[in-house]
Amino acid sequence: MAGMNSDKAPVIVILGPGSLATAQRIQQRYPQARVYGLSGRVEGVEHCYESFGDTLRGLYREGAPIIALCAAGIVIRTLAPLLDEKGAEPPVLAVAEDGSAVVPLLGGLSGVNVMAREIGEVLGVAAAITTSGELRFGTCLLNPPAGYALADLEQGKRFVSDLLAGESVRIEGAAPWLAQAQLPEDAAARRSIHVGCQARPASRDELLIHVRSVLVAVQAGQADLPARVHDALAAANIADASLACLLAGDEAMAEPAVHDAARSLGVPLRFAPAGGSLVEMAGQALEGAQLIEQGGVVIAVAPSPIDPLQVGRARGRLAVIGLGPGAAEFMVPAVKAELARADDVLGYETYVRMAGPFRADQVLHCTDNREEMQRARHAFELAAQGRSVVVVSSGDPGVFAMAAAVLEALHESSDAAWHRVDLQILPGVSASLATAAQAGAPLGHDFCVMSLSDNLKPWSIIEKRLDLAAQADLVLAFYNPISRARPWQLGQAVEIVRRHRDGQTPVVLGRDIGRPGQTLSVVTLAELLPEMVDMRTMVLVGSSTTTVFKHPDGMQWVYTPRWYPPHH
Ligand code: SAH
Repeated sequence: MAGMNSDKAPVIVILGPGSLATAQRIQQRYPQARVYGLSGRVEGVEHCYESFGDTLRGLYREGAPIIALCAAGIVIRTLAPLLDEKGAEPPVLAVAEDGSAVVPLLGGLSGVNVMAREIGEVLGVAAAITTSGELRFGTCLLNPPAGYALADLEQGKRFVSDLLAGESVRIEGAAPWLAQAQLPEDAAARRSIHVGCQARPASRDELLIHVRSVLVAVQAGQADLPARVHDALAAANIADASLACLLAGDEAMAEPAVHDAARSLGVPLRFAPAGGSLVEMAGQALEGAQLIEQGGVVIAVAPSPIDPLQVGRARGRLAVIGLGPGAAEFMVPAVKAELARADDVLGYETYVRMAGPFRADQVLHCTDNREEMQRARHAFELAAQGRSVVVVSSGDPGVFAMAAAVLEALHESSDAAWHRVDLQILPGVSASLATAAQAGAPLGHDFCVMSLSDNLKPWSIIEKRLDLAAQADLVLAFYNPISRARPWQLGQAVEIVRRHRDGQTPVVLGRDIGRPGQTLSVVTLAELLPEMVDMRTMVLVGSSTTTVFKHPDGMQWVYTPRWYPPHH
């Protein structure tokens, strides 16, 4: 699509520590930018990668603006196989490691030259701009800034080559950004740049740019919304491209049809307190706009582009995420994306720190590990204001962690605003799975997961379950095996298991798995002592079929076969 400005945060890709200083200078210009460093060579950056090629191609396909601190040739060769693919072309720039050169390579229509100039400015060098229109006029006419949209790219290209060939131009309508451009302006020119929101075909002699200055307010429960909005705009003689956002009453927040409509119209959806009429709602949300009632919806036309973020508010979002055991590469991509979009991050301080680094605009709410229900309610209060809130758990949020607390808080609440929040639970690699993977496959057959903490359940029920699970010959995974406040429980638990299981049964102890200083050991059930275990340890007790064998580096593989002997 023409005139598309990439709204994704740029990624600065570096190969070695020598580029770090330049990367940080560029980051000052783009505080949202993430630095990707080659694993093992660069430390203290947002993201470490293993393969330069796969990483660069992945980012390109995601549409992320790429600032690569390396030779232009490397970037060209890496991305070459993708250039034939259809789809948006994000800005791609090569910047010399020492910051002495800025070369825009791709993304002429998504603002690469603008970025090249911005980066050139912070680095104190001139960007290597090679686009003729850009050089002549100092701006890319085909890539108007946010709030404006080019009507027709092909026609626009013809128009720019006419100007380059010497035609002069006059400007109709308000186009403040063109004031800085060096255009061959002439009030009597045949060619014109027309900026406005009317729906009309562009003539051969004009460059038509639509202002995104129109909002449409819709009602909950209205049938066939996209067609209704489209028809209303057409009847009012307004171009579809001028639609900046859709507005609905708060009560429509959880209504899928309204969200689908906004998605299919390609505009953000905002909400306002309903109360009175649609006209009143639209008028309050967009002061000073001209209001048109048409086909059951209300069209509000503002005098200049609308920033949707300034209209009403968004539907709040609350995501309960699992970080996995610790290491960033074991965090699922959906969780990373959720952390990047978060306004607020809540959780136990250790986990919040593990989820970082965060940007200065993200608000961290660190609380004590035990204040779970209070934290869940706080999260809903923030999300109900329209914020994007993340509640952090380690491992998986549904395994002895925050997801159940959040759902319980919601279930108990009669606040309609809480129930309208977009609630998402995003999974993570749980400690038992991460530990099992390091040890081999101890959970290869039926297993039982238990928390040995009697903070939230009576000890008698734990004893009963241990007894039955051990009897049933299930592999046992113990979370919260021991703590300073619960010193004796693990010893008791092991006693119960020993009643049913051989002393030679393998036991895996994983401590701080996926975190710095992780340790993994394999002992027998007879050797197991509570002193070997602390609150950061995962305990996996094998079944009668769990087996151990050595591998060459002295470590042992532990696995539980998938089959089970008959008449055992
Ligand atoms: N939601 C978490 C579990 C929270 S209960 C998950 O799914 O993993 C906390 C317990 O999990 C700890 O007492 C410890 O037994 C275990 N645990 C969590 N992270 C661990 C890690 N990195 N290594 C070993 N055990 C861990």
